Amino acid sequence: MSPRTLFDKVWTAHEVVKETADTPAVLYIDLHLIHEVTSPQSFSLLRSLGLPVRRPDRTLATMDHSTPTKSEQVFGTEPIKMDAAARQVAQLEKNAAEFGIELFDMHDARRGIVHVISPELGCTLPGMTIVCGDSHTSTHGAFGALAFGIGSTEVGHVFATQCLLQRKPKTFAINVEGSLKPGVTAKDLILAIIGKVGVSGGTGYVFEYRGATIRALSMDERMTICNMSIEAGARAGMIAPDEVTFAYLKDTPRAPKGAAWDAAVARWRELASDPGAVYDAAIDIDAAALEPMITYGTNPGMVVPITGDIPAAPAAGQPAAAVFDQALAYMGFRGGEAMLGKPVNVVFIGSCTNGRLEDLEAAAGILKGRKVAPGVKLLIVPGSQQVKRAAEALGLAQIFKDAGADWRESGCSMCLGMNGDTVAAGAYSISTSNRNFEGRQGVGARTLLVSPLTAAASAVQGRITDPRTLL
Ligand code: SF4
Repeated sequence: MSPRTLFDKVWTAHEVVKETADTPAVLYIDLHLIHEVTSPQSFSLLRSLGLPVRRPDRTLATMDHSTPTKSEQVFGTEPIKMDAAARQVAQLEKNAAEFGIELFDMHDARRGIVHVISPELGCTLPGMTIVCGDSHTSTHGAFGALAFGIGSTEVGHVFATQCLLQRKPKTFAINVEGSLKPGVTAKDLILAIIGKVGVSGGTGYVFEYRGATIRALSMDERMTICNMSIEAGARAGMIAPDEVTFAYLKDTPRAPKGAAWDAAVARWRELASDPGAVYDAAIDIDAAALEPMITYGTNPGMVVPITGDIPAAPAAGQPAAAVFDQALAYMGFRGGEAMLGKPVNVVFIGSCTNGRLEDLEAAAGILKGRKVAPGVKLLIVPGSQQVKRAAEALGLAQIFKDAGADWRESGCSMCLGMNGDTVAAGAYSISTSNRNFEGRQGVGARTLLVSPLTAAASAVQGRITDPRTLL
């Protein structure tokens, strides 16, 4: 057999019916993650057709996108303020009960952002196919799973059949070598990759992140990388499982145990791409040359080193000049301006990109003994209730509160502002999330994507700040 990539191995193992020139493949799905926002229509469809969920045991529900982050609303002393969110939460409770699906409801200690809880519970495992009605399902690729977001109609297909119609993507090797310098994080690396590939450069591909730099990353960092694959247009991002992966999963509640664990690890070791495997495309990244990165426009590919200037014209792979000009006008920026020193109104640390414990530890390292600048709102939202408890046990939450931050319950929160955690029109938001589209964090909100280090440093100074100056 000719050498195969990680992607080829996982794809082939799940192909129920191969694709033809006229028909897509039928792909078996191991794990279907659902939440309160993109599932209601699909449950209604099942009901109207009189169908059950084909594999409720392969389906897991949580509440994250529109849920409140204020403790009093989460734990019931006050009602959920937003009617739409209250309805979605109640509907998911009803649907999960009716169709026999396990649900981590508002009070469950395991609840959190769907892409944070599944790995920490050991539901995400190497070699799986995983889907969810959320674009950033690519996160789970950090474990060597083939994981991607699907639309509401496809959620219904998976409910009914546990399969999905898919065209086979091509493979794209992202080869990363060199050590990241102090103050330069996995978030900076993925922003730099998106800047180089462009926001549509990955269209039709599955990325495989490879090289010594990737091998040296923790699982939290690998998840940050894979999470944003979609922002370069890729269907998914994957990293071959290794000892770091196995160590992370070993004691998670739902990972295989005993002899089953040993057998699983032996299988997972076979998933890495074979020497000589051929990719359809490839780029090389020198991680040692990178600086902290920051976006200046309205897509994640409009990104520069933090010490850099806003370009005067779109770079290769970027949108046309008119779109570029519109983006700068929306942001209130001009080509040639420096990023450093620009004023900041809101800082958001959280999301499925950077709401894990290591992200909070990084932010706390900057915030310890410092105060948030006057007039700046710093919102810190852990990715899960487990992350929240861990951060509180380590004293991180106290550091945040002492600095003047608002420390909340877990959820998507200001990543997309569906729960009322929004940024005012015209305000500048330094955010560790993954999308800076127009209006993503609120109507007229201006989002700049950064690492947790840069977010914390900018919160302290009240302006865009190179985190290396505060390390
Ligand atoms: S944090 Fe943002 S990107 Fe992640 S699951 Fe929630 S809404 Fe989607």
